[in-house]
Amino acid sequence: MSRQPSFRVAVLGATGMVGQWLVHLLDRHPWFRVVALTGSDRSVGRPYGEACRWLLGAPMPDWAARMPVLPTEPGFEADLVISALPSEIAREAEPRFAAAGYLVASNASAYRMAPDVPLLMPDVNFDHLALLARQRDERGWTGALLTNPNCTTTAAVLPLKALMPYGVRRVHLVSLQALSGAGYPGVSAMEIVDNILPHIPGEEEKLETEPRKLLGRLTDGAVEEAPIRFSAQTNRVPTLDGHLVCLSVELEEPISPEQAMAAMAAYRPPEEVADLPTAVPMPIVVRREPDRPQPRLDRMAGGGMSVVVGRVQPCPVFTLKFVALTHNTIRGAAGAALFNAEALLRWLGRV
Ligand code: NAP
Repeated sequence: MSRQPSFRVAVLGATGMVGQWLVHLLDRHPWFRVVALTGSDRSVGRPYGEACRWLLGAPMPDWAARMPVLPTEPGFEADLVISALPSEIAREAEPRFAAAGYLVASNASAYRMAPDVPLLMPDVNFDHLALLARQRDERGWTGALLTNPNCTTTAAVLPLKALMPYGVRRVHLVSLQALSGAGYPGVSAMEIVDNILPHIPGEEEKLETEPRKLLGRLTDGAVEEAPIRFSAQTNRVPTLDGHLVCLSVELEEPISPEQAMAAMAAYRPPEEVADLPTAVPMPIVVRREPDRPQPRLDRMAGGGMSVVVGRVQPCPVFTLKFVALTHNTIRGAAGAALFNAEALLRWLGRV
């Protein structure tokens, strides 16, 4: 039997909502061994088990509970760094890690749209990792920085990728986003119980820009953004996990709902990433029941890594309309960063 590869991993912002999912997913990861967990001054020096208000249904792993929370500074020995830092902290911290030689897979939005930073979903745009050559040339880093998209973006981009051969021209989307997307403690109960908040700061802009980069073409060391116009409206709703997005899509070639469902169900990851531990054979699961997808029933499809699409219908204004669901803290955050870290190791020829 061949031996599994082994890499030392640090989690930055390990006590937060995404950090906890990372600790949980890393507990069973076949290649990665956690060597450092970091937090803010509030947590540094305390055992993780005390500093972290654990919110997942699965128990906190014993090894994590015993680890001391370290400062978010380079200095520990690790092959990979997975960042779940708030964006304003990531803006300062992540370049310091990349400059110090660490390979950084980030969840934060700070560098997603930087021209030399791959905004990556390995089963959508694995080839965009080629931007790292330019990043190393221009920034002189011995490490590297790549990012995963906004959680809601992941629900839109996978089905749109499957529809790209039919010429995606314009997209209108409305999101219903779960509470865990706001981190911990997030939105207060007084605001969200019996309510919907029709404003998530910064979110609409991300949904109108990130898909264009993800679906863009790499030419001459730069991403040429896909010429698709997006209009997004975002809402916070009182579900715990799972962002639901209602999309209307205009296509150049007016295909039927049946053709669209067939294209989505047939979508497969490129062979370079298909065997990575976090890859799923079916990135898009198509449901035909009239009342699916639903967050509570469908968010764990593919272990939380598949986007579930349903209600594919003709659209009287554009070409087609449908509903897509993503597990925001797995496919949209922790699972996304692990998948990106694995893809980076594949790109570097280390696995
Ligand atoms: P969160 O629950 O607020 O957690 C923030 C983490 O960052 C905590 O571990 C916190 O440590 C640490 N931190 C805060 N200030 C710090 C500082 N000055 N120095 C070092 N560490 C600091 O946030 P989250 O929801 O996990 O989100 C983390 C990142 O992922 C954000 O950039 C977010 O936009 C992105 N993201 C989140 C989701 C989602 O669904 N939640 C999806 C995609 C992307 P202490 O506990 O020690 O203070």
